[in-house]
Amino acid sequence: MPHTDLTTWLEIDLAAIRRNIQQMQTITTRPVMAIIKANGYGHGLVEVARAAQDAGCAWVGVARFEEALAVRRAGLGLNILVLGYAAPPCAGEAAARNITLTVYDLDVANQYAARARAAGHILNVHAKFDTGMSRLGIFPEDGVPFMQQLSAIPGLCVQGMFTHFARSDEAERVTTIWQNERFSALVTALNAAGLRPALVHAANSAAALYFPGAHYDIVRSGIAIYGLQPSDEAPLPPGFTPALTWKARLSSVKIIPPAQ
Ligand SMILES: *Cc1c(COP(=O)(O)O)cnc(C)c1O
Repeated sequence: MPHTDLTTWLEIDLAAIRRNIQQMQTITTRPVMAIIKANGYGHGLVEVARAAQDAGCAWVGVARFEEALAVRRAGLGLNILVLGYAAPPCAGEAAARNITLTVYDLDVANQYAARARAAGHILNVHAKFDTGMSRLGIFPEDGVPFMQQLSAIPGLCVQGMFTHFARSDEAERVTTIWQNERFSALVTALNAAGLRPALVHAANSAAALYFPGAHYDIVRSGIAIYGLQPSDEAPLPPGFTPALTWKARLSSVKIIPPAQ
């Protein structure tokens, strides 16, 4: 496509993103939650969300509530998970627009529920567990009582649970194996207690490709759907193509004399 008035531009191949999503689904035999935070890793939030929907994704993941709203306002109906913290006043609108929030604190969960009830809707939530990333999440050892109490809050529907790997894109495998063992033990305990939610997820792109034991019900893939390597130590297998090309118009060619 010629951009005669521009000197430099990005071209985004949405068909490549659709194919990369399908490739990830083929490799993992799991549905993909397309991660589209940070303006779709710079590829365009709404455009990538639409490409994900066209590729058959039932889910996209964003970092912030505002990103989820932008996807909804664009008229897309697929499920949206806000992976980061959302302030309690957002919860009424989240419930009304079927935006799923992440919970890891009972006080905040109760505030979300109060807003959802006031808005006359059920709020879907996914519980987040900290198995070693040391960022957001409940420690898995506290997981069973947490899920018991969370499930009892009227106005909330505990639809999923997840964790995030700190080092799955490194050659060092011990940390991911250890994190996954802690998470898997919690899933087993919740299953026994009748508290396992419908959607259990853990794997980012690198874990989806290199740790099949972490696939669970759905994989959360960001970097790979854009056709980019998770890292030098966790390269993409064949079948993925980069979606972004940076182009620029040639503006000057000249020969510089020696010693100048
Ligand atoms: C960004 C993010 C992902 C996607 O990670 P990639 O390595 O880009 O696949 C998955 N889960 C969470 C919680 C994230 O924040």
